[in-house]
Amino acid sequence: MIYLDNSATTKVDERVLEAMLPYLKEEYGNPSSKYYGLATRARDAVEEARCQVAKLINAKPEEIIFTSGATESNNMIIKGVADYMKYYEKKGNHIITSKVEHKATLNTCKYLNGDIYSNKDATFSLNCTSRKVDRGYRVTFLDVNEFGQVAENTFRDAIEKETTLASIIWGNNEIGSLNDVKRLAQIAHEKNVLFHTDATQVVGKMSVDVRDIGVDFLSLSGHKIYGPKGVGAAFIKSDEFGLPPITSLIHGGNQEEGIRGGTLAVHNIVGLGKAAKIARHELDERMKIVQELHEFFLHKIDENQNTRLLGNQNNYVPGILSIIINDPIFNNEQFIKKISDKVSISTGSACTSGEPSHVLSNIGLAEDVSSVIRICFNHNTKQQEIISLLKLFDEV
Ligand code: PMP
Repeated sequence: MIYLDNSATTKVDERVLEAMLPYLKEEYGNPSSKYYGLATRARDAVEEARCQVAKLINAKPEEIIFTSGATESNNMIIKGVADYMKYYEKKGNHIITSKVEHKATLNTCKYLNGDIYSNKDATFSLNCTSRKVDRGYRVTFLDVNEFGQVAENTFRDAIEKETTLASIIWGNNEIGSLNDVKRLAQIAHEKNVLFHTDATQVVGKMSVDVRDIGVDFLSLSGHKIYGPKGVGAAFIKSDEFGLPPITSLIHGGNQEEGIRGGTLAVHNIVGLGKAAKIARHELDERMKIVQELHEFFLHKIDENQNTRLLGNQNNYVPGILSIIINDPIFNNEQFIKKISDKVSISTGSACTSGEPSHVLSNIGLAEDVSSVIRICFNHNTKQQEIISLLKLFDEV
């Protein structure tokens, strides 16, 4: 089986699995318990993982809060910052995001904007404005260019006196385009607006330095970087007084500085830490391999008149390729189904399956949703696998 859906998820690295196993077996202590060895060893393992994740993005260990994944990190940051700013700091109630965010951001913002109460409601409520409620927040959903990127001016013009937070995705999970988050964060800060980025598709694939890009908050996920599912992290920039207060999303015990309650999933956190450590050590090598594969694929499809590449090929996440097949009889779902015993690829985001992609609709390709496929390489992909996929295009 050829696996080319690495943006949906990645295979757990054997070294990660090995690091995790003791914490599912003999090292089962609760890191919040006191004094005895099982507990302190679990706590040490969590703190080591915190350092490993911090190092990958050039953060301080205390700036890393473990969550269940990037969905939770996005929810925690956006809801937590918006709420604290409005109700405790008595600042504004306005949030800015874009129309092509991952659903974890988009639906969080729709919820705050009073448009939806659940994810299922997200599609339905578009046709039913009477369901709108007032949750006390306003959200501006920014238009994007043909590559799914937020323009500086669009961003600047959307900032109001009441704006407290902007959340803009770094690397788009469907088409791979990168936003200039460093510049957008600068613009936000000029106007005293906090800046969050969902870096789930960038971390582990490109060099990430939170100090260089200057964001206040960042989300990442374990299962996109050869770690386990069900674990992620949020970076929260600290100052001389420590972490800034945000309202908890999950109220409970005092774990994670009281920001995120719940017994820590030590095995998953250890896995995320190990995956982060490996990613940092092997980043250059991985990037080189994936870049070469990316170019190899581009070169190959260049020969084929029937394909068009989406996303900005001057500013992209290496390895994420979204293409349109310009053939009236091509149907992406049917194609993927037909080749599913040989190759795993997708039509777009796994989190959007079952409905037309909002990313494609917002870059003017609503008509083409059944012609698009997304192919995601990683450092283990072989050129021969790409050739096999292209052969299937021709055959099927
Ligand atoms: N943001 C982006 C950009 C993603 O690609 C994903 C995963 N598809 C998520 C958030 C959600 O991550 P998780 O599965 O860890 O909740």
